[in-house]
Amino acid sequence: MDPPLTSAHVAFRDEARAWLADHVPDLPPPGSPEAFEQHVSWERELHEAGFQALHWPEEYGGRGADVVTQAIFEEEYVRADGPDRVTVLGTNLLAPTLFAHGTDAQRQRWLPDILAARTIWSQGFSEPDAGSDLASLRTRAERDGDDLVVNGQKIWTSYGAYADWIFALVRTSNFSAPRADSTPDGPTKHAGITFVAIDLRSDGVEVRPIIQLDGHAGFSEVFFTDVRVPIDQVIGEIDDGWPVAMTTLAAERDAPAAPPARYERDLRDLIDIARAVGLDTDDVVRDRIAGLHVRVECYRHQAAATVATLAAGGSLGDGASVTKLLWSELERDLYAFGLELLGAHGEVLDDRAPLRDVAGWHSRYWYARAATIYAGTSEIQRNILARRVLALPKA
Ligand SMILES: Cc1cc2nc3c(=O)[nH]c(=O)nc-3n(C[C@H](O)[C@H](O)[C@H](O)COP(=O)(O)OP(=O)(O)OC[C@H]3O[C@@H](n4cnc5c(N)ncnc54)[C@H](O)[C@@H]3O)c2cc1C
Repeated sequence: MDPPLTSAHVAFRDEARAWLADHVPDLPPPGSPEAFEQHVSWERELHEAGFQALHWPEEYGGRGADVVTQAIFEEEYVRADGPDRVTVLGTNLLAPTLFAHGTDAQRQRWLPDILAARTIWSQGFSEPDAGSDLASLRTRAERDGDDLVVNGQKIWTSYGAYADWIFALVRTSNFSAPRADSTPDGPTKHAGITFVAIDLRSDGVEVRPIIQLDGHAGFSEVFFTDVRVPIDQVIGEIDDGWPVAMTTLAAERDAPAAPPARYERDLRDLIDIARAVGLDTDDVVRDRIAGLHVRVECYRHQAAATVATLAAGGSLGDGASVTKLLWSELERDLYAFGLELLGAHGEVLDDRAPLRDVAGWHSRYWYARAATIYAGTSEIQRNILARRVLALPKA
């Protein structure tokens, strides 16, 4: 963490570091029901210690923490080897959306359970044929009395197999919206979308887990057949959910960057791998490690600049695409090189291998394949930078 720290920041860092050192558990990835439950218990403990949702306003149970404090916590969390957090979609994406667009009743109804990890939320934006091109979504909802009746399908729903609720985008009008961004006369495809919260235990919901290459059910497909959703679960206005969805995506994009401590730690592991397999004196290997070291340092500076911008009250805007590209491609390349160095040890996942946590490295390698896809693919980030930041002409 490079920004200058106040004495309050230093005191917070010491408090968090000491608490995490005593409490962080060693958990398996949250891809099975038992492991998921262990993660939930851990996050309840985090909540009871006052470290959950630091950035929420105090009136909703947060600490109203500034962005530097949040970044300090995330750094310390990585340094303490804290497990993946399974409540982030509720705490980091839905909550800011409710602060901006929800009603008081909705905030009172959902926020306390999110904070205490009593309710797990998932995000139902993507559909087959509607990922990067989100507004072309086809799940539809029609009004019937005081309910919306929802039919359609979502995909890549993180933690869908274990979640209680989903916040989803559904089309409530403009059903024949063309796929182009706009037409000369008709409404754009962004019109007629509604942002709605759906209880996943409602009749007509079917959640089908997707087993990933790493063997875990990290996400699911979710099918809706005549699912009745009370109107008071619409967040924002019916037919005007696009600005609400943009608040959710901005919360994801404007969050303090992925903690650089993670990549510093992984680079150290990579060097250990090179030593363990006897390739640390190989010039080509040393050169590639040096290249990754430079990228880790670049990313550390970018993350510090992000925190400084947000701390000064700014927003990242389209520049967030630089950050996303840096961390996701670094992650992908770092783990891929580690696996290359591991060679046969990496392939057989043998506990007798003379290396620390080979299976963990393997699993991170597989998951890193997703880093350049979720939260916006690399191609989309490059398009954004080309068009909106560099103002390059469209080919
Ligand atoms: C691990 C993981 C977790 C996820 N969790 C969730 C979740 O919880 N909830 C949720 O709603 N979604 C989730 N997603 C889905 C994610 O948001 C989408 O996968 C992503 O938006 C890309 O959409 P797509 O898969 O439909 O690919 P597409 O949009 O079909 O893209 C396919 C390829 O074409 C490229 N491409 C597309 N359009 C353009 C263009 N205009 N110019 C250049 N190239 C283009 C893309 O970059 C990509 O390489 C998750 C995805 C992953 C991998």
